[in-house]
Amino acid sequence: MPVLNRIAEFGPQMAEWRQWLHRNPELSFDLPKTAAYVAERLREIGVDELHEGIARTGMVAIVNGQGDGPTIGLRADMDALPLDEISGVDYSSETPGKMHACGHDGHTTMLLGAAKYLVETRNFKGRVALIFQPAEESGGGGEVMVREGIMDKFDISQVYGLHNAPGFETGNVATAPGPLMASVDDFRVIFTGLGGHAAMHHESVDPIPAAATFADGCQTIVSRNRDPIKPLVVSVTRIMSGGAALNIIPQTSEVGGTVRSFDGDLRDLVEKRIRSLAAGVAEAYDLRAEVIYERSYPATVNHAKETAFAASVAAEIVGEDRVDDAVTPVMGSEDFAYMLEARPGAYLFVGQGDTPMCHHPAYDFNDEIAPVGASLLARLVERAQPVD
Ligand SMILES: [Zn+2]
Ligand SMILES: [Zn+2]
Repeated sequence: MPVLNRIAEFGPQMAEWRQWLHRNPELSFDLPKTAAYVAERLREIGVDELHEGIARTGMVAIVNGQGDGPTIGLRADMDALPLDEISGVDYSSETPGKMHACGHDGHTTMLLGAAKYLVETRNFKGRVALIFQPAEESGGGGEVMVREGIMDKFDISQVYGLHNAPGFETGNVATAPGPLMASVDDFRVIFTGLGGHAAMHHESVDPIPAAATFADGCQTIVSRNRDPIKPLVVSVTRIMSGGAALNIIPQTSEVGGTVRSFDGDLRDLVEKRIRSLAAGVAEAYDLRAEVIYERSYPATVNHAKETAFAASVAAEIVGEDRVDDAVTPVMGSEDFAYMLEARPGAYLFVGQGDTPMCHHPAYDFNDEIAPVGASLLARLVERAQPVD
């Protein structure tokens, strides 16, 4: 695997860090052990400043280069998922119901590896801000860090992040300018009728047909309302009503789902259609509808200039034939989106070979690619802010 030589030398140490993190998964903003471990490593490495307690368990470490210059931001996420691990590796999660199933243990390790190299070599101008964030999987830790002012406080001028990619050849890099990952919105519609005895349905207002009609109507948002050349997902993923007894007409029913797109106008369109479908069905079936429509992460939109730059740096590390700079966007979402709304930058995928997919209970980060990611992050800094 082509990587920076010095980083290859501490590959085994990176695997050790990664496997410790893997054994000790924590969720969302609640990362006391993880944050303490990362902070300890950063002190050992000898970063110049360490600012802890941002977005509760997030932190920013500063490494000074040679002379004045801008500050470049590099970001890793640190949180795990609420899942029981079945990977069978000997460093499996020691906490039932929690596991690093998205490889954020690997991302944290890549950024620690880059930190170690950058502290040793300091072959760049200005500064690097190493951003370790909590709550990528849920809670929007990236958004909270931006809201708590990291971009202004540390004077960050551009920002980069990586995600491992199962199914992409090990060590290959893929990215694209423009929208790379989708926005995510969730909706819940609660229909309230009048419960009663199922044998005397005429004395009730049954909320179940309304739920079925509404779920059916949702299918027309993509097939009838959307501009067909724009990607959009509207998935109904929940219909709930009734209980143990089959002779009761329930009082309420609930339909829920998720919406993905790359386009703010489409988000507006879907919310409008969900609200009007729910209201129309409620009117038609003579019951009430309450709509809860929550906008979560926006689309992750790469900036063209920074993406081309990052792809060229990746080509330098892994070879031009192993870099795809026009990869097809994915409908998953990513809260690095908030950092890219705040500053120009790019998000990249690093292939980790034929492994179980992210969020699968048998998933495990491929330690082989940690030095690739670390080399890429470090070289981004050296190329963005070269010493004269
Ligand atoms: Zn994930
Ligand atoms: Zn992830």
